[in-house]
Amino acid sequence: MDREDVSLDDLSTAAGNFLFLTVAISHQTSPMGRRPLAGDVGGTRRHGWDFLVARLKEAAKRDPSLLEPARWRTLTAEALENLLRDRRLGGRLTNAVERATLIRDLGDVMVRHGWSDVHSLYEASGRSVRTILSALEEFQAYSDPVRKKSHFFLALMRNNGIWKYVDEEYLGPPVDYHEVRGHLRIGTVRVEAPDLLAKLRHRQPVDDEEDTAIRSAVFEAIVLIADVSGLKDASRLHYLFWHIFRSVCTREQPHCLELRRDCTLPLRYRALAEFSTAPSRCPFSDVCMSARRSDRLNEHAFETHYY
Ligand code: SF4
Repeated sequence: MDREDVSLDDLSTAAGNFLFLTVAISHQTSPMGRRPLAGDVGGTRRHGWDFLVARLKEAAKRDPSLLEPARWRTLTAEALENLLRDRRLGGRLTNAVERATLIRDLGDVMVRHGWSDVHSLYEASGRSVRTILSALEEFQAYSDPVRKKSHFFLALMRNNGIWKYVDEEYLGPPVDYHEVRGHLRIGTVRVEAPDLLAKLRHRQPVDDEEDTAIRSAVFEAIVLIADVSGLKDASRLHYLFWHIFRSVCTREQPHCLELRRDCTLPLRYRALAEFSTAPSRCPFSDVCMSARRSDRLNEHAFETHYY
């Protein structure tokens, strides 16, 4: 089962606004060639999304106004950088100006509609995935044509028991760079255009159209696999893929044929890596077309706030 690793119980009714805000600025937290967003929260070192959630939650408990749309309208890049600066590691947040702009836009749209809580959007959309997805397009942070943040936000709201949908079957997978890297390596998605393949191999930036084409293909692959496998829940399958790609199919040194001691795969997915013969290895190693190759593809290079 997909589930979240951070409890939001202590945020009470503000949990929806918390997730809406956090997902809006959750993109490119491990940019290629740069140090990942990281820091210590509660004595534990966290990276990327895990750090973002833990640090913002800590800040929101100290100052609940952080979760109010009226406050979002005035948030500056400097204030955001200060919120996410770590005492030991320093400031690692990239594109703070753009992220703050996205937050101010969240506030502007919410206030324009007279909404102080994202729950109003849910009710105004008849609790329908399809209608909420369309409504979210009005926010810059959620305007991705492949809707990565939108599907992610809706899955988080469902998995935290905050929202239920009348048409849950339309909840799709949020496709980010971990998903792209894993599927390109396994071969569930193959790039046949020579020019695009060359860009992937040489880590040259792709354009908007190519980014949408690659991620749409990955989206469709996950939906198809969820369907033919009988799971019938693309969002749930995404969580499985995402955790394995993030922890096992890492960018530089994937654990194809043996999980290393530092592997961060959550315990609930560990059984998938156990086979009748030792050692534990990547669950996809028997079918992956890159398992024994040294020229594995990485995700495409693309600067964006979509994912
Ligand atoms: S076998 Fe290796 S390349 Fe293939 S999905 Fe697993 S970790 Fe990635």
